[in-house]
Amino acid sequence: MQVLIADDDAVSRRMLARTLESWHYEVISACDGNEAWRLLQRDDAPQLAILDWMMPGMTGPAVCGALRRRQRDVYTYVLLLTARTEKQALIEGMESGADDYITKPFDAQELKVRLRAGLRILELQAQLVAAREALREQATRDPLTCLWNRYSILDILNREVNRANRDGTGLGVIMADLDHFKRVNDTYGHLAGDAVLRETARRMQAAVRSYDAVGRYGGEEFLIVLPGSGDSSAMQLAERLRETICAEPISIPEGSLRTTMSLGVTAWQRGVYPTPEMLLRAADMGLYRAKKHGRNQVEWVSLQRAGRTMHAR
Ligand SMILES: [Mg+2]
Repeated sequence: MQVLIADDDAVSRRMLARTLESWHYEVISACDGNEAWRLLQRDDAPQLAILDWMMPGMTGPAVCGALRRRQRDVYTYVLLLTARTEKQALIEGMESGADDYITKPFDAQELKVRLRAGLRILELQAQLVAAREALREQATRDPLTCLWNRYSILDILNREVNRANRDGTGLGVIMADLDHFKRVNDTYGHLAGDAVLRETARRMQAAVRSYDAVGRYGGEEFLIVLPGSGDSSAMQLAERLRETICAEPISIPEGSLRTTMSLGVTAWQRGVYPTPEMLLRAADMGLYRAKKHGRNQVEWVSLQRAGRTMHAR
C-alpha cells in the first residue's frame, strides 16, 4: 500500500517514512503542500495521505480541501499531522475534509491503529464502487452476449448522431441479422442458439475498432455504430463482419454448424442532419434488401434513398 507523506520538516519526515516502511508501506514523500497536491492529482496517486498541518505553500487542510472539492471515484484517506492541540484549530482542520488527525510527535502504536482504520474505509469504498459498477454493467449489457443492450446501443446512436451533426465527422450505421436463425433454435434447441449468438457477438466484437459500438438490437439482430466512419469504411467493416461470421463453423453442443449474416449499411451525410430514426430506417432497408437478394451479403442504402422510399409510401 502506498502512502503519501508531506512535511516541511526533513527530520520528522524521515522519521515518519522510516516508521511506515517498517510496517511495509511504500512511502512517497513531499517536502511541502504544493508538491503533495501535485502528487495527489496524478492518476496513480496514493489513496492514503499523511499531511503536516503547517507547511509553506499549501497547508495540510488546504491540500485536503482541494482534494475534496474534486469529484473523483477514488477516495483519498487523509490524516492530518499536527503540533497544535487547541480544540478550535482541530475542528477547522477536520472541516477541511480530513478523515482523522494525529498530534506530533506521533506515537507509533497510535499511528498504526489509525492507519488501519483508514485502510478499512478505503476497502469499503472500493467495494461500493465495484458494486455500483456491477449494477451499471447489468443495466447496460445484454447478459447472453455481453454486447450493449438495445437501450444502450440506441443511446449511443443518439449521442453519435448529435455529435456527427455538430462536428460533421461522419458516422456509419450497420443493421445485421443472422440468416435462418430460427432453424438453429428449432433444429438444435436453445442452448445451441445461445452458443451461436455468443460466438457471433465475440467475432463481431473482435472485428470492429475499439471505438465502435456493437449492440444486441433484438433476438438475432445487431446494431453497430461506427463513429467517424464514411460510406466506404462502413461498407468495408460490414463486409468484414459478414466474412468473420461465415468463415468458420460455430461450435455448438452437438458439434458445429455454419451460419451466415445479412447486413444493411448506411452513413451520415453532410447537409442532411439526420435523426437516429432516419439512419435506423436506411440501415434496416439495406438489411431487408440483403435478405431479399439471397442473404449472406451486404447492402448499402443512402439516407436519400431511404427518405424517398419513405415519402413514396
Ligand atoms: Mg510543518
